[in-house]
Amino acid sequence: MFNILKPVSNYAKETFQAVKNIGQGLSVTFDHMQRRPVTVQYPYEKLIPSERYRGRIHFEFDKCISCEVCVRVCPINLPVVDWEFDRQVKKKKLKHYSIDFGVCIFCGNCVEYCPTNCLSMTEEYELASYDRHELNYDNVALGRLPYKVTQDPMVTPLREFAYLPEGVVDPHDLPTASQRAGKRPEEIDLNS
Ligand code: SF4
Ligand code: SF4
Repeated sequence: MFNILKPVSNYAKETFQAVKNIGQGLSVTFDHMQRRPVTVQYPYEKLIPSERYRGRIHFEFDKCISCEVCVRVCPINLPVVDWEFDRQVKKKKLKHYSIDFGVCIFCGNCVEYCPTNCLSMTEEYELASYDRHELNYDNVALGRLPYKVTQDPMVTPLREFAYLPEGVVDPHDLPTASQRAGKRPEEIDLNS
């Protein structure tokens, strides 16, 4: 009699253990379904840089007076201001201007001190290149209007990482009701 009960008892124990293991596995799965995704599916999704993000510098050639203040305030004297003196109008005439972003530390000093505000920092951060010499931007490249994440129809802009609520440092700490990091393009107020 006991010989028959033992296999049945073992079978019941193993069944119970299997159900318990499956339950534990599913509990981990369900726990993760509650969490917010923290990864960004770059390049299909991109984070919107914060308001004062210091990205690629924009330069307005016509506003530059060749004063070279930007060179003097730069910690590494980086901007190259190539000018000649125009004897007729007795003024400096800018011939060429360049900044090498392979060397620039994006401190923003040049932008801060430029007397004519012809320099500004943009939200452009995609400066990767196979050749570092390509990062030496001349006045034409510097004058190009910056790329905006919110204006690219091929990209889903994500705002969340730059705008986590006060005191929250981990996106997992956000209320479970908000299901994903960042907003969809239609939810973003571009004027804000
Ligand atoms: S951002 Fe800083 S390092 Fe770069 S060019 Fe301007 S002053 Fe120099
Ligand atoms: S500080 Fe401004 S105006 Fe002066 S040389 Fe530099 S970019 Fe031009």
